Amino acid sequence: MHIITKEEVFAKIMSAERPQCPHCGVEMNIWEVPPVPCDDGLGWGTPYLYMCFNDECPTYVQGWDHIEGTYGRTASYRCICYPEGRNFEYMSVFGPFGGKGQIIDEEVLAEQEAMKEKVEKGFAVLDEMEARKDAAGVLTILVDANEPARVRVRAAEMIRDIGTPAEIDPLREKDFGNDIIRKKVEAAVKKIHERNFTRECPFCAEIIKSRAKICKHCSKEVAGQ
Ligand SMILES: [Zn+2]
Ligand SMILES: [Zn+2]
Repeated sequence: MHIITKEEVFAKIMSAERPQCPHCGVEMNIWEVPPVPCDDGLGWGTPYLYMCFNDECPTYVQGWDHIEGTYGRTASYRCICYPEGRNFEYMSVFGPFGGKGQIIDEEVLAEQEAMKEKVEKGFAVLDEMEARKDAAGVLTILVDANEPARVRVRAAEMIRDIGTPAEIDPLREKDFGNDIIRKKVEAAVKKIHERNFTRECPFCAEIIKSRAKICKHCSKEVAGQ
């Protein structure tokens, strides 16, 4: 037996055409059912529903008077639609914002999707650069604040392995803002120095040999420093 996961239901409902509210004709929103059954205690039998959140919808507008007159409570209805059978029903709401927190925001989803693509693209570019040992290329991605943090972290790890002393100054001059990236860059600089038997002069910060006794840039004595 195949158990359908919430993600599968979500993928299906996102790709399906959305129904129009039979009462007002407005396209319905995708609504995430709250985790705790709130209505009759039986749950909804589905993690997502379509719901009409149009405040002008006649069902919703007239619902206030109807419930007030029938039950003496301040509440109304919104039209819902089950994704499987596409049958329409009503859900009671207790104010204009009742249930609105559960609307799946399309813009947020679109942003998440765009970010995912950006990360995947960044990783692919980095892989190519690593294959041809293009440390300068990896550096441009690492210092680019428009790249996703995950891509820049990967770039920092890469430069640790393929970086040369030429990348150290640009790395030192950059303020990375993000703690994780900054620590990765620290580790990368340390590793590049180790690999090249170099270090930075404690007086002028220029790159010198690990074993240098006198800095060739500022002529200061650096032995044992
Ligand atoms: Zn409606
Ligand atoms: Zn120096």
